[in-house]
Amino acid sequence: MKQRSWAEPWKVKMVEPLTMTSPRERRVALDAAGFNTFLLRSEDVYIDLLTDSGTSAMSDRQWSALMRGDEAYAGSRNYYELESVVHEVYGYREFIPTHQGRGAEFILSQLQVKPGQWVPGNMYFTTTRYHQELAGGRFIDVIVDEAHDSESEFPFKGNVDLAKLQRLIDTSGRKGIAYLSLETNVNMAGGQPCSMENIRATCALCHHHGIPVYLDATRCVENALFVKCREPGFEQHTIPQIVREICDQTDGCTMSGKKDSLVNIGGFLALNDLTLAEEARNLLVCHEGLQTYGGMAGRDMAAMAVGIRESIEEPHIRARVGQVHYLGQRLLDAGVPIVRPLGGHGIYLDAARFLPHLARCEYPAQALAAAIYLDSGVRTMERGAVSAGRSPDGAEIFPKLELVRLTIPRRVYTQAHMDVTAESIIEVFEHRSEIQGLRMVHEPKRLRFFQARFEPIVA
Ligand SMILES: *Cc1c(COP(=O)(O)O)cnc(C)c1O
Repeated sequence: MKQRSWAEPWKVKMVEPLTMTSPRERRVALDAAGFNTFLLRSEDVYIDLLTDSGTSAMSDRQWSALMRGDEAYAGSRNYYELESVVHEVYGYREFIPTHQGRGAEFILSQLQVKPGQWVPGNMYFTTTRYHQELAGGRFIDVIVDEAHDSESEFPFKGNVDLAKLQRLIDTSGRKGIAYLSLETNVNMAGGQPCSMENIRATCALCHHHGIPVYLDATRCVENALFVKCREPGFEQHTIPQIVREICDQTDGCTMSGKKDSLVNIGGFLALNDLTLAEEARNLLVCHEGLQTYGGMAGRDMAAMAVGIRESIEEPHIRARVGQVHYLGQRLLDAGVPIVRPLGGHGIYLDAARFLPHLARCEYPAQALAAAIYLDSGVRTMERGAVSAGRSPDGAEIFPKLELVRLTIPRRVYTQAHMDVTAESIIEVFEHRSEIQGLRMVHEPKRLRFFQARFEPIVA
């Protein structure tokens, strides 16, 4: 059969002009930002691939839902709409709205982590681990080894290593473990999915020992597509069926609506345990807001209810992941070192292989993100040593993966934007030996990657 092109299942109704900058202007902007792409002004950015968090384009249905916001302090109609959609799509008995994912992570960690307990996870996410540690917990990585190998083609690099988990249970016992933190489409591993088989086995092992499992459902829909496409036996399952089956294995979830759910702000905590939900609502009213709005306006909840329904439509999720893979394939064809297999929400450049002449303490991924911005105004993000921060004893952590993330916002950019991005990265790759390492000149105490400042190490 002849190759047929595919295209997005939507068309553009409104446009937002982008700023075009000169190399000189970008140099000035980068200096002012201390070589940290988080500190750039968005006006100075051409194609913004910093994150897919809260950067999605809403549909006309979502925008019209905004106008139906019921801004009552208590009992907003939109709360009940959102509750019913969450219940239908994700399952779980109790729904607790929060302003975004970390609001849910804070509440869950405060309630379920006792000081000194381990919190095993399939790799970590920055805010998730931060809240676990803030509550006195100790994060321990139980992801499969393949996840740390950017060249492994293993299709389910998000999987939990059951032997690592078993060892932890043997040495610490049930009381030493708060819960298992299970992430789908693991962000820090490059958007890599877990298989359903692994999710089932992991949850069975935990539950056998009385250990709860809380899902980070932020990118569960993306994970569901990979299960459908890669895991034998799931070809005929629908995306909603797979999402539900993942959630049904677990005891609750934290959710950032800013990713899968196609909204600019929002999140929730969902639980099966009524007593725990009651305690969560007690914390919610202190830190977020009343139980029928959490941190969200009525209109935000309305837009999220529509967004969740759109997020599980198969043409949508195929187009979303398809665009990521289009960019990834262009880079692979040019020989640029990227994490494989291609993930669900972005492309990860392997900065350690891209810039082998830089030592890890010269922050190669940070330097590469700066070089790409200088070349084209494309904004990316460091996901390596700067993001990993320091261990509780103060030593810098140098994770195995030193990556630059190109995250694709949902329904925002066109194929031509992906082409411009690929061409810029290929150009930077051809001139990679000219890129200098960086020295950190300002280091915030917590989540340092957001605000750290750097200077080039001039040889
Ligand atoms: C974004 C994200 C979070 C945190 O959610 P926020 O809405 O940004 O607070 C947690 N886990 C994962 C995997 C995420 O991608």
